[in-house]
Amino acid sequence: MDLLEDLNEPQREAVLHETGPLLVLSGAGSGKTRVITRRIAHLIRKGTEPWRILAMTFTNKAAREMKERVAQLQGEGATERPFVSTFHSASAVFLRRHAEAVGLSKAFVIYDDDDQLRLVKRIANKLGIEANPRDLLSRIDAEKNGGRLPDQMVLNGNDPRAQVVQSVYRDYQRSLRAADAVDFGDLLLLLVDLLTNDAELRVRYQRRYQHVMVDEFQDTNPVQYKLLKLLAPPGSNLAVVGDDDQSIYRWRGAEVDNILGFPRDYEGAKVVKLEQNYRSDQNILEAAYAVISKNRRRLDKKLWSARPKGELLQLLLHRDERAEAQEVARRINGLRNEGITDYANTAVFYRTNAQSRALEEGLRLARVPYTLVSGRSFYDRAEIRDASSYLRLMVNPKSDADLTRVINTPARGIGDTTVEKITEHAGAIGRSLYEVIEWPERVQGLNSGAVKRLLGFRELVERLVKFGKDAATATEAAKFMLEQTRLVSALKEEGTDEAIGRAENLVELISATQEFDKVRAETPPPSPNDELGTPPPPLQQFLEQISLVGEADGEVPEGRVSLMTLHAAKGLEFDAVFMTGMEEELFPSRRATGVEATEEDMAEERRLCYVGFTRARRRLFVSLCQQRMLYGEIKVCRPSRFISEVPQELFEFPHDMPVAPRPMKPRSYGYRADDGPQVDRTYDQSTEFSSDPTGSRVRHSTFGDGTIEKIGGQGPNAKVTVRFDSVGVKSVIARWLTPL
Ligand code: ATP
Ligand code: MG
Repeated sequence: MDLLEDLNEPQREAVLHETGPLLVLSGAGSGKTRVITRRIAHLIRKGTEPWRILAMTFTNKAAREMKERVAQLQGEGATERPFVSTFHSASAVFLRRHAEAVGLSKAFVIYDDDDQLRLVKRIANKLGIEANPRDLLSRIDAEKNGGRLPDQMVLNGNDPRAQVVQSVYRDYQRSLRAADAVDFGDLLLLLVDLLTNDAELRVRYQRRYQHVMVDEFQDTNPVQYKLLKLLAPPGSNLAVVGDDDQSIYRWRGAEVDNILGFPRDYEGAKVVKLEQNYRSDQNILEAAYAVISKNRRRLDKKLWSARPKGELLQLLLHRDERAEAQEVARRINGLRNEGITDYANTAVFYRTNAQSRALEEGLRLARVPYTLVSGRSFYDRAEIRDASSYLRLMVNPKSDADLTRVINTPARGIGDTTVEKITEHAGAIGRSLYEVIEWPERVQGLNSGAVKRLLGFRELVERLVKFGKDAATATEAAKFMLEQTRLVSALKEEGTDEAIGRAENLVELISATQEFDKVRAETPPPSPNDELGTPPPPLQQFLEQISLVGEADGEVPEGRVSLMTLHAAKGLEFDAVFMTGMEEELFPSRRATGVEATEEDMAEERRLCYVGFTRARRRLFVSLCQQRMLYGEIKVCRPSRFISEVPQELFEFPHDMPVAPRPMKPRSYGYRADDGPQVDRTYDQSTEFSSDPTGSRVRHSTFGDGTIEKIGGQGPNAKVTVRFDSVGVKSVIARWLTPL
């Protein structure tokens, strides 16, 4: 196919730009990702060897889509592929090649959040530090995202806690190395450290990758940018695309300044702006623009669409989160029945994972097929983590975190005291637990029974390691592991429904390895010219893949509605989008509305709203509740400020709103009069209490719930006599009441 035909002029310019740095800085849906994939295909067609191209993005899902797109453009028969990957996976591949140089073996394992937290807890305990382990870990993460090892920390005299963090950080790094393990942050940090100090290696990488490209560049953090500068220093062919308005990972250290400062760091960079949005109807775009333009510090980029105005945005107001879920499901079916779109092209977004439970329930009841796009949930299940720990021990028995996790799973009579004793001994002699249990009789205070059981466990792990070395596929290794450890049979013997369910999940793990083996078998072998050499053995590769599965990586099987957090929605597009929970303190989140919040916190929430709106092609539903049960608490909700930032005429207020509020003013719902005037319209439309309101249940913000006994007059100022459940009969004004 002609790679340039369906591109507009500036897009073509960006694709044709071959040498020197390039920045494409443009609004949502303007074809930035399309530019990257076309540019890769174009370079290959012009003769660049595919393995000389490195393209990076943030989620596995985005990387996979990009890879597929490029393969399609390359056409059948192409045997070599460019290296398209996430920052983390690419770094893992590179780091493994030079593992020894940073004090690791090639079989190092990657610890995830949970492993990290347990390690920090242990260290804090050991050092007698009382600080919250979560806080300590996020401080360590922040250092890593900033590209700083313990000795490179900036110690500010005013912050005594920094020293505490430094000592924990130091110990933490030591423990990771001893376990032949790295965490996510290390993947980048250790690689950056290595390339900084080894000039020869650095030059080898720079020569190898003639073209480096980055999508969603606005979300790079300092350590990622450092890595880019090492791989593709100023003057080389680094092409980055992004949108400062879609920077939503500041809380993970992303620096929007990286994109704004790019032309300064990469002198002579060609800067291309794309102004035509191909994705969304105009009304959607206008609403998104109205919200984002309230941010003060931003580049005001033009964005226009040749698409029609399209439908108005629909504002949906519900009694509570259950009603919201029901109504969202009903609307989804409506879109489908009217032939507007299908399930697969519909998405429901939410600000926090905790909202998903109610939504799932509503969709399930309405028989709407859906998938929760949260890649981790499967791998975070306890039984899957146990199995993964055994698999990790198969390639690296020195991983103490994995060994302690499964030393008594399934139960084999090795108790906590025994584990404490061997851990203490291991610490004292500076060895891993695996080494210690080779001679458990040397550990003080263990009785002969414990010694015997430890030896039995050690033999099991030895068997696993031996088998793992030669396993030809990940499936073979996983099957052997399940059989030897008796993980499945122990659960089956337990026999409860729950245990059986967990046993089934373990069997599902085999489906995952089979899928992996299949893809691996179909992947062409690396080119003989490829300096990256042979990939690691299958089991190791499988483990690397699952430890890098991120939040946004869930596969959505065909024909299902996608449910996801707004953060996971980046880069995607759907015909119809539901923005749920558009309420103050939920979205924008409490973190951005609280007293300690900064203007930048709110700006980030607003960008997140912009990302959400701009995922929609044709229909955008903005949904909110009057009250919501979240984290076990019922709260009265106020409409999100983002709703009032959208010009009112862009909204349509459905007449068949399920809880058409009756004669009340917003105040009666707990809304402040100065908030969300747009929402008032919904109330004005409706009239009064139904003809005979006596007996109706209502809520009052001070007196609680009650039953109407009598009503005098009409309209919002009518006097209503209510028998409240807790305070007895009171006379109140109608507008202070909420119907239940
Ligand atoms: P985001 O900011 O959300 O990541 P983006 O700038 O990466 O968006 P793309 O996803 O590349 O935008 O493109 C948005 C949509 O517009 C896609 O469906 C894409 O196929 C389509 N598109 C892009 N450029 C053109 C074009 N020149 N002609 C027709 N369709 C286009
Ligand atoms: Mg994109």
